[in-house]
Amino acid sequence: MEQCIFCQIAQKKSPAEIEYEDADVIAFWDIAPKAPVHILVIPKKHIERLSTLQPGDEIILGKMVMAAQKVAEKKKLVDGGFRLIINQGRESGQIVPHLHLHLIGGRALGKMG
Ligand code: 5GP
Ligand code: ZN
Repeated sequence: MEQCIFCQIAQKKSPAEIEYEDADVIAFWDIAPKAPVHILVIPKKHIERLSTLQPGDEIILGKMVMAAQKVAEKKKLVDGGFRLIINQGRESGQIVPHLHLHLIGGRALGKMG
């Protein structure tokens, strides 16, 4: 996935402000944060979107959520609260075709829906 910006970040070929990394996932600041904390958690493996997950990918999704938990603790968001978002497809506004979890917090986020 030569052209994928998030693959390039995962491979350290493009810069990003990294908050967490292990063998399978990496978390880094969104380039255009929508809240005081806005961090993206991605699998290092290229997965395009939620709808292209395959059997066996449950593990990587679980690792993404556990990484988000660690970053939320590091950023002291647990008491105040935070939100995890995965966009899927055009109507959600997904622009980067590499699965990512938005971790957003640090302000009142308002009700969904
Ligand atoms: P989406 O709308 O696809 O769910 O969200 C993609 C997010 O990635 C957006 O919030 C956007 O600001 C962020 N983004 C896009 N390109 C880059 C980049 O090159 N570096 C970083 N750190 N974030 C990016
Ligand atoms: Zn990718």
